[in-house]
Amino acid sequence: MVKLEHIGIAVKDINQSIALYESLLNTPCYKTENVESEAVTTAFFQKGETKIELLANTITGGVIEKFIEKKGEGIHHLAFAVSDIFAEMTRLSNAGFVLLQDQPKKGADNKLVCFLHPKSTNGVLIELCQEIID
Ligand code: ZN
Repeated sequence: MVKLEHIGIAVKDINQSIALYESLLNTPCYKTENVESEAVTTAFFQKGETKIELLANTITGGVIEKFIEKKGEGIHHLAFAVSDIFAEMTRLSNAGFVLLQDQPKKGADNKLVCFLHPKSTNGVLIELCQEIID
């Protein structure tokens, strides 16, 4: 793994949360993006080296909504940048971590992503992400 790429935060109301984080970080949201496959809308903030991703569902009964029902709003995942997502998936799988996908999928922010099940990572949802180079 290269570095912590971003921290994902589950929110109920994306617009309200964008305003809140713009005020908190004193920096504008630089991008919003819908991830159709997940029915999720995302909003990104960059402060120095640190990136924050807000996530809210665009449909009822989606994964973020279910997360919030169980745990409330808050930190949803930690995302680590990797240089070779396929190699890293193989390494982690062989080490006994539970991957939520067999193959990387297209995530927000032009990235290939794969998630690790929190039951194999002390309760923390971990995202691996690799920049897609066109
Ligand atoms: Zn993420």
